[in-house]
Order: sequence, then structure tokens, then C-alpha cells
Amino acid sequence: MEIKAIRGFNDILPDEIGKWQFVEKTAREVFEGFGYSEIRIPILERTELFSRGIGEATDIVEKEMYTFSDRSGNSLTLRPEATASMARAYLEHQLYNIESIAKLYCIGPMFRYERPQKGRYRQFYQIDAEVFGVGNPMVDAELIIMLIHFLNSVGLEKLELQLNTLGDRACRPQYREGLRKYLEGKAFQLCEDCKRRLETNPLRVLDCKVETCKQAIADAPKVTDFICSECQKHFDSLKEYLETAGLAYILNPRMVRGLDYYTRTAFEVVSYQLGSQNAVAGGGRYDNLFQEIGGKEIPGIGFAIGMERLISLLPEGKQFVKHPDLFIAALGEAPSKEAYRIVNQLHLEGIRAELDYEGKSLKSQMRRADKLKARYTLILGEEELKRGRAVLRNMENKSQEEIPLQDLIDSLRKKSFQIEQSGL
Ligand code: ATP
Ligand code: MG
Repeated sequence: MEIKAIRGFNDILPDEIGKWQFVEKTAREVFEGFGYSEIRIPILERTELFSRGIGEATDIVEKEMYTFSDRSGNSLTLRPEATASMARAYLEHQLYNIESIAKLYCIGPMFRYERPQKGRYRQFYQIDAEVFGVGNPMVDAELIIMLIHFLNSVGLEKLELQLNTLGDRACRPQYREGLRKYLEGKAFQLCEDCKRRLETNPLRVLDCKVETCKQAIADAPKVTDFICSECQKHFDSLKEYLETAGLAYILNPRMVRGLDYYTRTAFEVVSYQLGSQNAVAGGGRYDNLFQEIGGKEIPGIGFAIGMERLISLLPEGKQFVKHPDLFIAALGEAPSKEAYRIVNQLHLEGIRAELDYEGKSLKSQMRRADKLKARYTLILGEEELKRGRAVLRNMENKSQEEIPLQDLIDSLRKKSFQIEQSGL
């Protein structure tokens, strides 16, 4: 029986990889320009990191984690998100001793046991950025500006930035209680999960996708009616910084985000081109996360971008697939050997060159050059080789010229080939 990939786990094939590389390269350039450094964290962590960090009563911890015991009986989990691990690494390596403010980013796969569908997979990729060590709303605004700037840089437009505040330890309990009381009166309308959430985590009801639950929350009290003056000040000041930067946002008082650690600022970037899985990125402030995982009280804020959803929104027409600069079609034994020597030399010069490995006819070699979409083909026959020359064919306009072989690299360079320095 043929072995297939696991459901919800995707291969990213060579014809798509150009887009992924472009997105990752742009993220690195933009984030590093904003002063962020890359961090790479393990894919496996102790389950406790997520159950304590993200919160026991969240969907992720309750039902979406890939958790298993290793051979020594430790409970391990494939990371469902990167923030908790990044916070752990910051504490574990005492990065705060080097510099109290850490701006970090991370790119890689996450794992959640969800129902696979368009825009929702079991292994998916995120680009994460986090700032640890500052509570000032200036940083919230700077991070959001960076996110939007990055999304625009890869060509995404028509995005909507949704903003909310979730209160903090001082005021969220009152909101939670107010919401719980309201929802109790609507309990008959709630799905089974939400009936349970009523006690464990009533804020999660606001995030439920079930139609009757959505109706039940239509007149629910808003967090903004409950927040304390400190949270209000933080929120007002964030809005002011965003306005100064000319960034449009809409307020969404129902947005709660799926992780329990958020405090104050919460945001989401939504695209209406995406259908039902419409959030491209989400994030927020989490001033209690560090304490939950055993650290000091350190404020933090960050976001995660879903790469699959982002890539599905990239504008059409941009050239992502790389084609050979040159294909060498050689006919006969001596020309084949010469072709092999030239191709190796070109590779060392950073020129993408291909040749025929199978002793095929000239016609079939030319077909392959076409199929590979080579920009030029060098036709090398016995006759030409004796004179130290070859025919260079422009595959686009079909024009041909004879050139001396010793000038090949120069000629190619003159034709403005992309030369990546090979470092040799
Ligand atoms: P959603 O409401 O879509 O489930 P979420 O609140 O669970 O999103 P986060 O944990 O904040 O999402 O992750 C940030 C981003 O990662 C999302 O906005 C989305 O683009 C992407 N994402 C989350 N879960 C998946 C998944 N299972 N498959 C693909 N992308 C995902
Ligand atoms: Mg989710």
C-alpha cells in the first residue's frame, strides 16, 4: 500500500516554495529593520509550558494539542504556538540580563489537532514577533505598525485591522462576572461547549462559531464598559499612536482571541478575500504570561501570522519560480564532456545551468530546455567545438549567435544574468 502524508499535514512543493521563500525573506528584512532578532526554539516542549502558559480552559489546551508521553514517561507537546516557548527561552537564558527589552521573531511550524479545511491545517506555519520587557503602549503601536507594513510589503492590501482591549487583572474579573450573568440568562441558546465555558471561561463564548451562540451574544455587555482607568488610558494612548501613524483600525469589542494570557491590547488582521478562515494574523499583550510559567512579572506583546493564509492572498503575476539561466544541449562525446565541464564552472560562478545527463537527441534536449523555461540554450556540436565556439540561443525571441567558448561567462554576464557570488 502506498504511504500517504497524515491528514492536515501538507507538503510544500518546489513550484510553491518561491512564495514561501519570498515571504520569509521579506519578514526577516522588515523585522530586522525594526530591530528584531531571530530566535529558534524547539518544536517539542513539556506539556506544562502550554497548559500553564496558554491556559487550561482554552480550546488549544482543551482539545487541540498533540500531546504524548516519551519513553521516559514525560508528557510532551508539539508546540501549538511560539509565544510561550519564546518566553521560556527568555527566562531560561536570562536574556533580560543582556538587555531588558527583547525584540524577537521566529518562523516555523505549529501543530494543532483541528478539523482540516481550507486555511486550517494540523501542521501550519507561523511568523511570530514578540517584544518582552516593555508595558508602554508605544510598543503596542510600533508592533502593529510593523505587522501592517510587513503585510503591505509582501503585496497584501484590503486588510482590516481590528482592535480591542481585554482589561487586566484588576478589571477583567468584573467583566467576566458581568458576561457570565448575562449568558446565564441565555444558557438555553448555547451549544454544549459554551454551557461548560459559562463556568470555566465565559469570555470564550464570544469566540464561538455556532450560530445560536452568536445570536446569544448579540446584546452581551462589552469589555469596554468594564475596564479600569489604567486599561482605558493604555487603550486610548495606543489608538492615538496608531492615528498619528495614519493607520486605520476598527474597534471590535467582541474580539477575545483564543489564548488566555492576553491582557489589554488584542488585535486581528482580517482579509475578506479569505472566506470563513479570515484571520491572517492575530496578537496582543500578555502581561501575566511570564508569571504563569514561573518567571518574574515581565510585560510582553506579540503577534502571529498564519503563513498558509498569507500565501493564499499573495497577488497574482509575481514571478516566484526560478528557471535555469542556461541549458547546454551537446551532441556527441567530446561536446558532452565539454558541456559537463562548462556546467560545473557556471555553477561555481552562481549561474543556474542545466545539461542533458542521458545522451538524448538534440531535439529532445531542446524540448527539455523549453520545459525547464531556460532563458538561453548553448548548442554545442563537434564542428563548433573544434573551432572553440558554440551557438547561444535566446529562448524567448529565438535569436541565435555564435560565440567563442572562452568568452561564455563574460557574454552571459553581459546579458545581465543574475550572478550570485559563489564565495569561491
Ligand atoms: P482561528 O480563530 O482562525 O482559529 P486562532 O485565534 O486560533 O485563529 P492564533 O492562535 O492567534 O489563531 O494564530 C495566529 C494565526 O495563525 C491565525 O490568525 C491564523 O492565520 C493562523 N492559524 C491558526 N490556526 C491555524 C490552523 N490550524 N491552520 C492554519 N493557520 C492557522
Ligand atoms: Mg484557533
